[in-house]
Amino acid sequence: MQIETAHISRNIEHIKSRIQAAASRAGRSLDDIQLIAVTKLQPVEYIRAALECGQYDFGENYPEETQRKIEEMPNLGKPIRWHMIGHMQSRKARIVARYFSCIHSIDSIHAAEVLSRELAGVNKTINGLIELNLSGENSKTGFPAWDKAMQNQTLLDIEQIGSFNQIKIIGLMTMPRLSDNPEDSRSIYQELKRIQGLFSVRFPTQNWHTLSMGTSFDYEIAIEEGSSMVRIGEAIFGPR
Ligand SMILES: *Cc1c(COP(=O)(O)O)cnc(C)c1O
Repeated sequence: MQIETAHISRNIEHIKSRIQAAASRAGRSLDDIQLIAVTKLQPVEYIRAALECGQYDFGENYPEETQRKIEEMPNLGKPIRWHMIGHMQSRKARIVARYFSCIHSIDSIHAAEVLSRELAGVNKTINGLIELNLSGENSKTGFPAWDKAMQNQTLLDIEQIGSFNQIKIIGLMTMPRLSDNPEDSRSIYQELKRIQGLFSVRFPTQNWHTLSMGTSFDYEIAIEEGSSMVRIGEAIFGPR
């Protein structure tokens, strides 16, 4: 179902005011929270409409789709930042290296290594977040941080990812388990915040300041729990 592009600016304004309210409740500054507008499976007209409102950060899941959209919107003259938020298949690393400025979903050494190599090829550095799976077996992506038996391996992997010069680690990302109650996300987001503190001690030369957590469904809760990047799709652009 398509929505009117005029609704997009209204939705963005509405979400921004709710972000502001959630930040105030938590005694946080609006400047510390970035809105990533998730445009996967949405048409370029919607991206143009969001750009008109000064929205320059966009989240995408499928690199080939993103490349196609970029080619459909030449010479925009706007400082767009593309964020890769979905699981990255290694064979798509070249496209990610070329077009994206941040990857939220680093979930293996192999993916990070391949991406780093592609980035070196185009002489580029991008920001990266380590994706942690905190909600258990039924969610497939991210390092299995919920699994105590995997903890040491995960730490070793993350240490090694920190050595890839082309990816500047800036923090952590997580996706909660599907639920019909946004409150169910709260404990997961508290856990990501706690791990941020642990990593800051364990890997002090790395920067862990960014927490990418919260979607259309639960971004206000994520902000109350310390989110610095919310990834919002359907609440801005309607159903996919
Ligand atoms: C699609 C997606 C989102 C956005 O979800 P909405 O429910 O549309 O807000 C956020 N994060 C990730 C990782 C996604 O894949």
